[in-house]
Amino acid sequence: EKAGVAIRTSVPVARIIVEKGRAVGVVLDNGEELRARTIVSAINPATTFLDLVGPRAIDTGFTRKVKNIRMKGDAAKLHLALDRPPQFTGADAADHQGRLVIAPSPDHVERAFNPSKYGEFSPEPVMEVTLPSLADASLAPGGACVLSAVVQYAPYQLKEGWDAGKPKFLEAIMAQLEAYAPGIGKIVRHTELLTPADIEKRYRMPGGHWHHGELQADQMLISRPVPGWSGYDTPLDGLFLASAGSHPGGGVSGAPGLNAARRIIAMKG
Ligand SMILES: Cc1cc2nc3c(=O)[nH]c(=O)nc-3n(C[C@H](O)[C@H](O)[C@H](O)COP(=O)(O)OP(=O)(O)OC[C@H]3O[C@@H](n4cnc5c(N)ncnc54)[C@H](O)[C@@H]3O)c2cc1C
Repeated sequence: EKAGVAIRTSVPVARIIVEKGRAVGVVLDNGEELRARTIVSAINPATTFLDLVGPRAIDTGFTRKVKNIRMKGDAAKLHLALDRPPQFTGADAADHQGRLVIAPSPDHVERAFNPSKYGEFSPEPVMEVTLPSLADASLAPGGACVLSAVVQYAPYQLKEGWDAGKPKFLEAIMAQLEAYAPGIGKIVRHTELLTPADIEKRYRMPGGHWHHGELQADQMLISRPVPGWSGYDTPLDGLFLASAGSHPGGGVSGAPGLNAARRIIAMKG
């Protein structure tokens, strides 16, 4: 606010207004219209163009490129509320404060990935576990503990459907955790498992991909988000991109946003 900026939350953008080939504003879900000279979209590029702008306002070649971005997620997120901190075998107190990776060998990771190619979840998932309340006790008062884990691999399109598959996947995850932190199952107070389908719905991320698009060679660097448009500007004057879908991609680096800001300032000369 000191910088003269108003930040508004819980007001999703329903549409980007385009007039004469230029983005000139947004319409919020509640119908309110906001006009601006520069619009920066820090959400998934496919949502930006296919839903908020709409294919009618952009040329078919660009639309096709956007439709072809591969963005089917394969990572799930587990949250556990525990009565007390779990004890991972062989890990000391300092280890528990860091990131605990369950991936016994490169072969194990490979084997865990294989089922996801055929629409199945990993029966022995690879996990990256953190216990955030060990660093910030206010997250779980009274000696309780929260566990947060990235769980791989969970294909966006599970063959049997996530309604049927989710309880089974959770069972496999808990069995894997039990093997490394014996007794953890008995101290679980509450469980939340987010599959890529849940992530898609909750965060409006098509495919539920954690980086708004796979980070593979053909979708990186000058080809991110699509070939020919890696500079944060877009075919629509006044509209810029700034999310993980742009170079250099996902992770909580803030780099796409910083690069986009620099680009916008440079273009305004
Ligand atoms: C399971 C999982 C684990 C991860 N683990 C790590 C990790 O350990 N380390 C790491 O660095 N990164 C991790 N990531 C990746 C990282 O979280 C993302 O790459 C990063 O959050 C992307 O940031 P962003 O701001 O570009 O997009 P997002 O974080 O997706 O933010 C976009 C925001 O825009 C909102 N939005 C969408 N549509 C609209 C709309 N129409 N109007 C208004 N708002 C809208 C969304 O709700 C969301 O809040 C993980 C991601 C997942 C899913």
